Amino acid sequence: MRLPFLAANWKMYKTVQEAVIYAKEIRGLIRDVSDMDIILATPFTALHAVTEAIRTTPIRTAAQDVYWKEEGAYTGELSARMLKEAGADYVIVGHSERRRLFSETDKTVHLKVLAALRARITPIVCVGETSEERERGQTLAVLDRQVREGLASLSAEQVATVVLAYEPVWAIGTGRNATPTQVGEIHAHIRSRLEEWFDAHAATACRVIYGGSVKPDNIRDLMALPDVDGALVGGASLDARTFFEIVVESRATTV
Ligand code: PEP
Repeated sequence: MRLPFLAANWKMYKTVQEAVIYAKEIRGLIRDVSDMDIILATPFTALHAVTEAIRTTPIRTAAQDVYWKEEGAYTGELSARMLKEAGADYVIVGHSERRRLFSETDKTVHLKVLAALRARITPIVCVGETSEERERGQTLAVLDRQVREGLASLSAEQVATVVLAYEPVWAIGTGRNATPTQVGEIHAHIRSRLEEWFDAHAATACRVIYGGSVKPDNIRDLMALPDVDGALVGGASLDARTFFEIVVESRATTV
């Protein structure tokens, strides 16, 4: 019942011109895919142009961050309403790069999730342990805290619409991806927590995706896992053909 979900996280890559060239290439390749949500998380500057370029396709766009206030004297920030107007249907919240480099906390993740939902933008909430936390045996405790605090005060119906991305920090951009066994265990754990903290419908409907060095040659094994609903792809999404290969490989296991 959960529609597979694949998102390209371009991070701070691509000018508007480069982004539109990519969007035009991918729209030719992905034209008829309707059994999967395919999302391009572009830099803010390219959001509107990319949304326009893929308007006639099933592809949707995401922002990579949002500020939680509606408006005001917050130089450099963007509200959820601004992102929605620019074309975003989704927003990445709490990516580990933002937690690590820009002091994002579970509290600010929570405020951003609420702001996105108020603007009818679906948050893609990232959680994941560092290698030190994994070595210390703290993985599940860290994930529990991030999920619980990130989704605090949401109703079960809201949780059902959210996308949760399990992204072990040690696997992001390192070429070291988590094994299917590790991913399967974590996703099953997250789903059981969603049932415990919200309800069975939220746990069954919420899409839990994996991120961390996903490539065309490892996506199949991940997508074959019952609790993995898709992927957040960084480096391998920067080339339209490689991202398309990931789409093709994922569909091979889900269609
Ligand atoms: C990411 O940016 O969320 C990510 C998973 O990056 P990569 O695929 O490059 O590891």
